[in-house]
Amino acid sequence: MSVKSNLEAIKQTLPEHVTLVAVSKTKPQESILEAYDGGQRIFGENKIQEMAEKWAVLPKDIEWHMIGHVQRNKVKYMAEFVSLIHGVDSFKLLKEIDKQAKKHNRTIPCLLQMHIAQEATKFGLDQTELNDLIQSEAFKALDHIEIVGLMGMATNTPDHVQIRNEFKQLKSIFDQLKGSLPHVSVLSMGMSGDYKIAIEEGSTMVRIGSSIFGSRNYAH
Ligand SMILES: *Cc1c(COP(=O)(O)O)cnc(C)c1O
Repeated sequence: MSVKSNLEAIKQTLPEHVTLVAVSKTKPQESILEAYDGGQRIFGENKIQEMAEKWAVLPKDIEWHMIGHVQRNKVKYMAEFVSLIHGVDSFKLLKEIDKQAKKHNRTIPCLLQMHIAQEATKFGLDQTELNDLIQSEAFKALDHIEIVGLMGMATNTPDHVQIRNEFKQLKSIFDQLKGSLPHVSVLSMGMSGDYKIAIEEGSTMVRIGSSIFGSRNYAH
């Protein structure tokens, strides 16, 4: 199956209120352009440098989303162009994004990443950390970032009940957050293996890579 036909097949399964982020990490420009020709304009990357290189050469109407873990010292390489940062999980990082956004005279939309999986390796905030963050005066003083929602990754497991419960938990935190922050509307959850469950549990944005572009080969 070609990138274009994979993309088309995925889009057919998505309700209208769900935004598709095509995860193009490790994939060459040609694959991205194939999806672009199929109408896709939102692409997700997990390495800032790789995203910046692609941004420099690919069509300027592409919206680039940073979906991976963000190192603070690299925020400056994407501050000019990034459309949405999914993986914000500390005040320090948010402060750096705010600082770099200000240099470019813009406001950068961000999602706070919540830790919902069982695995200790997945990044993210717990509910107490989230509440402490959004209630702090230091957070309220940042005016070049905007928290527009939450992102989370479920445990990598064949147990659909567990995955569903983790998504339910994230949705419930999302609904509470809407009451305290005015611009919250995005719930980024669901990947190739679990996006259908995520949508049933309230996702508004899915991040899909391998089902569109084929499996990734990290050896290259
Ligand atoms: C790689 C990645 C995805 C896409 O994963 P697939 O299983 O290929 O769809 C989604 N979200 C994040 C954070 C990722 O790093």
